Amino acid sequence: MRIGCHLSSSKGYLAMGKEAVKIGANTFQFFTRNPRGAKAKQLDLADVEQYLEFAKEHGIAQILAHAPYTLNACAKDCDLRRFAYETMCDDLKRLAHIPGAMYNFHPGSHVKQGAQAGISYICDLLNRMNEQGHETTILLETMAGKGTEIGRSFEELRAVIDQVEDSRRLGVCLDTCHVFDGGYDIVNDLDAVLKEFDQAIGIKRLMAIHLNDSKNPLGSHKDRHEKIGEGEIGLAAFVSIVTHPKLRQLPFYLETPNDLDGYQREIALLREKAEHEEA
Ligand code: FE
Ligand code: FE
Ligand code: ZN
Repeated sequence: MRIGCHLSSSKGYLAMGKEAVKIGANTFQFFTRNPRGAKAKQLDLADVEQYLEFAKEHGIAQILAHAPYTLNACAKDCDLRRFAYETMCDDLKRLAHIPGAMYNFHPGSHVKQGAQAGISYICDLLNRMNEQGHETTILLETMAGKGTEIGRSFEELRAVIDQVEDSRRLGVCLDTCHVFDGGYDIVNDLDAVLKEFDQAIGIKRLMAIHLNDSKNPLGSHKDRHEKIGEGEIGLAAFVSIVTHPKLRQLPFYLETPNDLDGYQREIALLREKAEHEEA
């Protein structure tokens, strides 16, 4: 099983790699820069080189970069859209140094411009990224649908993918808390949800999973993450997810409210339950 959690990127790649191994992870997610701030630290190429060596030794094959929350590709204000463009450009340039890394972002909030307008702005950004000729796979995250978030349904993500001229390097990251809050019942009917995903988007686009329990009930459109097994989704559903034949080969990332010890326990718990299930 490929599983890890969200780690702080403030000390660089090698530090994250070591932290991941320490807690029993074989992949990890990190913010490309301060989640709220704008400026990224200069990329330390020596650190990258040491990390790549370390990753190879320890079987960390692929990691997931997460764009800052402030990036809103479909903001009304054109300065904010320019910020989204510049941030994503810069992030992808940096990620070119990390082979195989994927880049996940929240599609954005259309703030009363309407979903259609929002979707066109997002596609515009993605088309412009393609013009830069990057090699990184970009993932659209499924959202809980709070406020005017784009990505509240599989159909909205499909609409984005459809309108991007070259969608070969475009995928989806499914967040369990978000889809549950969005009304997809992964607790009682995971197979039906995956079928719906397949029909709307195509299961091949599904490239990563965020594992989060939810503080709120199905369809609440809230987006408050809870520790695994302590929320409305519950441990049994997570065991079904990590062992599902259509999902088990994907990388899983915990974004639960935990410190490193808590993440270590959740990783061990899920590994143990999955082994038990598959035995
Ligand atoms: Fe996210
Ligand atoms: Fe997430
Ligand atoms: Zn969330």
